Amino acid sequence: MSAQNSESKKDTEVLVENPFHTARLKPARKGKRPPKLRAVVHQSGCTGCEVCIAGCPVDSIELVPGPDPDNPSFKQTVEIDLARCIGCQNCSQDCPWETITMYNTEDAFLAWGHETLKSELYIAESTLQKIESEYAFALPTELAKEATSED
Ligand code: SF4
Ligand code: SF4
Repeated sequence: MSAQNSESKKDTEVLVENPFHTARLKPARKGKRPPKLRAVVHQSGCTGCEVCIAGCPVDSIELVPGPDPDNPSFKQTVEIDLARCIGCQNCSQDCPWETITMYNTEDAFLAWGHETLKSELYIAESTLQKIESEYAFALPTELAKEATSED
């Protein structure tokens, strides 16, 4: 999925999929056209009850640590992987707390920014670059060229 801007974060911050989250090990979403709708969790209303997870046909809802581990109401929550959601609406109908809303695809990422308290599935691009440089996950261009030429 392409990077998305989120107005609830810093205005200039670009969010990208977190390549280190285990959700990235799942098969990619099938279908070339984006869904008309995508589901967004209003995390401040989520109890972490897990009801929505079982009904998702594409396994796009992840149970993640809540934004405040010391607060029993925020120990765990869920995040919806927008890159996988097919917009079936099961989760929004199943949630006993009515805290999942369906948005038009073009509005979903902005809504995600407003309604997500803490994300595990998406991280700031600058954070990813920092991790890559700190742990040398990505080969510097010159080294990458050398490695290719030695093949
Ligand atoms: S709308 Fe459907 S596909 Fe999307 S997260 Fe909810 S249950 Fe999963
Ligand atoms: S069903 Fe609703 S309250 Fe329960 S985990 Fe899912 S989003 Fe949160």
